[in-house]
Amino acid sequence: MLSIEGLSVSFGDHLAVDDVSFDVADNEIVVLLGPSGCGKSTLLRAIAGLQPLDSGRVSRDGEDLAPLAPDERGIGMMFQDHALFPHRDVGQNVEFGLRMAGVASAVRSTRVAEMLELVGLSGFERRTVGTLSGGEAQRVALARALAPEPRVLLLDEPLGSLDRELRDRLVEDLPGVLREVGISAIHVTHDHDEAFAVAEKLVVMGEGRVVRSGLPTDVWSDPRHEAVANFLGHRNIVEIGPRGEVPWGTLPSEPGRAVILPDAATVLADPGDSADRPGRGVEVRVVGSRFRGASWEVDVDTEPGGAHLHFVVPTELLIGQRVFLNIDPSRVRAVS
Ligand code: ADP
Ligand code: MG
Repeated sequence: MLSIEGLSVSFGDHLAVDDVSFDVADNEIVVLLGPSGCGKSTLLRAIAGLQPLDSGRVSRDGEDLAPLAPDERGIGMMFQDHALFPHRDVGQNVEFGLRMAGVASAVRSTRVAEMLELVGLSGFERRTVGTLSGGEAQRVALARALAPEPRVLLLDEPLGSLDRELRDRLVEDLPGVLREVGISAIHVTHDHDEAFAVAEKLVVMGEGRVVRSGLPTDVWSDPRHEAVANFLGHRNIVEIGPRGEVPWGTLPSEPGRAVILPDAATVLADPGDSADRPGRGVEVRVVGSRFRGASWEVDVDTEPGGAHLHFVVPTELLIGQRVFLNIDPSRVRAVS
């Protein structure tokens, strides 16, 4: 539906967005994930028509949006600094876009009530902006962005300024709200947890370019590039020698840089298993262990080689414990 093809934007001789292409289907939530300064905001602004393109095309259902002014594109935006109008009440903030579009007053108030209900703030119309909590202000900003019924919503780090707990709560609510109104969205963030919680499709950016895109599960379990793996929070990045050598022994995997996925390890019930069949298990000392409800997240040092690895296992492991782990070679992915 929304198609971005070969889009580039430069500032002087700095190429901020470099030949970016991706599609957003109807009602799809695409997350653009990348470190600060990689060009995410510039790309969003270009899509919205707020930033001239050096080259490339933004189209919707095949129609080039270039001739359309920002307010004619049917694109809504929501930013990190939600910038609500401080001297207007919540209702006046939410109806702003409708008023600009010349929508009649009675229609506006119905629509404002609907939007506030959608974001869980029914009856907040006459509240002043200054009395809202950070999370409420963010919800009002979302209601304001959705009120004019845009076909596409661009969210630029919308939850960035909130504390972790509030962010987690809004991250849980946001996809539901977007699905309820039936809108396509591009959600920008530098936080991989937020990206995985929201994304139906993930586009990972680095230095102005798309470095990896696809279903979140596919991108996570096969990041392909070391920078992407690091950015997604993978911690087991190892160098595998020509005959499968790793610091603690061998891994029957392709030589080169690789990621060992955190679910690759099985705790061997009987350490004898491993001693009897060398190469099937590695002795490790548990140096960190966090209970995660259904699983345990553990940091271990391998006994031979002293490599520091990170796994998620279904078994309780205690700090200081020594166990044997089997590492499944099918959960090892080459990266370049
Ligand atoms: P992100 O949103 O991923 O943090 P930005 O799109 O804001 O990244 O910035 C990408 C790069 O472009 C950065 O190097 C930034 O300094 C530069 N940049 C952004 N806006 C401008 C501008 N108006 N003028 C000059 N350089 C800019
Ligand atoms: Mg930005």
